[in-house]
Amino acid sequence: MRFRRLAPLLLILSSALAVLPGAAGASSGSSQRPPPNIVFIFSDDHAYQAISAYGDERKLLETPNIDRLAREGMRFDRCLVTNSICGPSRATVLTGLYSHLNGFVNNSPQARFDGSQTTFPKLLQARGYQTALVGKWHLVSDPTGFDFWQILPGQGAYYNPPMIRQGQRIRTQGYVTDVITDESIAWLKQRDKTKPFLLMSQHKAPHRSWEPALRHLGADGQRVYAEPPTLFDDYAGRGPAVRDQDMTIEKTMTARDTKLTPPPGLSPDQLAAWNAYYDPLNAAFAAHPPTGADLVRWRYQRYLHDYLACIRAVDESVGRLLAFLDEQGLADNTIVVYSSDQGFFLGEHGWFDKRWIFEESLRTPLLVRWPGVTRPGSVNRDLVSNLDYAETFLDAAGVPVPETMQGRSLKPLLEGRRPADWRTSFYYQYFEYPEPHRVRPHYGVVTDRYKLVRFSGAGDDYTELYDRQVDPLELRNLLGQPGYTAVQAELETELARLRRDLKVPATIPEHWYGPRKAN
Ligand code: CA
Repeated sequence: MRFRRLAPLLLILSSALAVLPGAAGASSGSSQRPPPNIVFIFSDDHAYQAISAYGDERKLLETPNIDRLAREGMRFDRCLVTNSICGPSRATVLTGLYSHLNGFVNNSPQARFDGSQTTFPKLLQARGYQTALVGKWHLVSDPTGFDFWQILPGQGAYYNPPMIRQGQRIRTQGYVTDVITDESIAWLKQRDKTKPFLLMSQHKAPHRSWEPALRHLGADGQRVYAEPPTLFDDYAGRGPAVRDQDMTIEKTMTARDTKLTPPPGLSPDQLAAWNAYYDPLNAAFAAHPPTGADLVRWRYQRYLHDYLACIRAVDESVGRLLAFLDEQGLADNTIVVYSSDQGFFLGEHGWFDKRWIFEESLRTPLLVRWPGVTRPGSVNRDLVSNLDYAETFLDAAGVPVPETMQGRSLKPLLEGRRPADWRTSFYYQYFEYPEPHRVRPHYGVVTDRYKLVRFSGAGDDYTELYDRQVDPLELRNLLGQPGYTAVQAELETELARLRRDLKVPATIPEHWYGPRKAN
């Protein structure tokens, strides 16, 4: 009888303890709570502008499932990537190192991730975690540190994607985002339930060429999206790099991008559904082909319809994984992270794609739910990075973080504590040039307010200064302007300090810029 009375009290006490900051995780020692599981959902080229929890003046779409992570966890508003392209971002996530130290500096045909180096999945695996990776990999060498892996070869295909399961090529049927989610859940079902787990569920979507699930074709009907104020940026007031690039909606977008031609890999039934949607739109386009600014506007609308439709399936996939965690009683001790390998331009500066130190590509979405640790609905505006993910996961699991890693655990921020010495500046560096998009190599220092960027490695080197407080769209180089002398000097000093501390080589080897042919 006594025990029956005590039991509810103990239950209340233990759940009260669980919500105390620092109560979770194996590292705390004071808690009986087992090490947390980690579900890392990672998409490819998902702009924060296209997540409703982040808000966007255009109100592009609703993402109720991704938003659930913001509502039940923490939304990071300034998560910056170290090098804004696919492979390098993934290598940084795994190693906690900048590109120049993990060796994966660009997406050239010669790039190959050195899987013998230390990664956070390997360290978790060594400490008893079961580890799995499903979906986009894009690091060429076979994954290491995973008990199970099933990846898309290269960039992967949207429809009926071939995959490689533990080295064996397999065929799949259906839409890539659904297939990756199915396989992720299948692995969770058969895992050893006595051990904690790490699942990395990594989507191809919404990468170019933005091919939606057939069920989402035309999901937004005839909607006309608002245009960003810089859709027709004339690139005045800045150096040659912004004019020189090859990533505009006007000049770079292809017939495949705008669905004037269908993608390969569709079955006859799928192709019929695809054509049923696009044929009338393409016929209308052919009957009155727009030109000049009207053609840019037409492509912008086509691009956003397709891109946002791809995100619908990603959001559904997040919903399915969260529902599975709920059904299995796993949600309470599972950290769920949603992020993307970088941001993306949705017409800003007339662009699609990424690569730049400018905000739309530099900043990536990051939402983290950690029940009992992170206060629901909290927002963080500190400078954080994909460089920090590895250390965060190790810290959360109570695994020692190697001294060599260059990021910092986000655990205190997730607990609602901001360390006094949290970073106030961030180093960025991009290499890949000239293919595929002629974005000049550049590096720079980013603070809450400013960016000092040096374009170097493509002939005429020069420096620019941006002040996001007075110029949030980043349209004016303020270097040498009245009132900026002291700021510039401080940023130059900070840039030099960061390059020294982060062991950035003074001279970049020529091959780090990548191939001189298209990739
Ligand atoms: Ca990417």
